[in-house]
Amino acid sequence: MARTHARKESVVGRKREFKTAALAEVNRHIGEVAQGLPSQAEEWEFFCECGRPDCSDVVRLTLEEYSSLHDSGQAVLAPGHNLSQVERARRLNADAEALQRQAQHQLERAHRNMRDRGT
Ligand SMILES: [Zn+2]
Repeated sequence: MARTHARKESVVGRKREFKTAALAEVNRHIGEVAQGLPSQAEEWEFFCECGRPDCSDVVRLTLEEYSSLHDSGQAVLAPGHNLSQVERARRLNADAEALQRQAQHQLERAHRNMRDRGT
């Protein structure tokens, strides 16, 4: 019984990430449409990306606000709403990987500098 329950939870979890991804895609399209219009000062209604099945909230953002969220890898969220733990973990992993690549790059550069100085 407990096993069945656990499996059900994980399916719900996956659905939530799917909704988050779908809404993020919709928001991206709204952003593109907004970008193509002459007036970029006004606010647009973006969908909350928390992915909860009962959530249909919209968040009013200017294109600039949305772009800065999107570019920094953050989600559009209504006040008090959060991403699922799975989605948060996924984003943290992506951040960690980016940091690791950056660290590796700097290490290689440091090695090159040391070599250059040695000659
Ligand atoms: Zn929400």
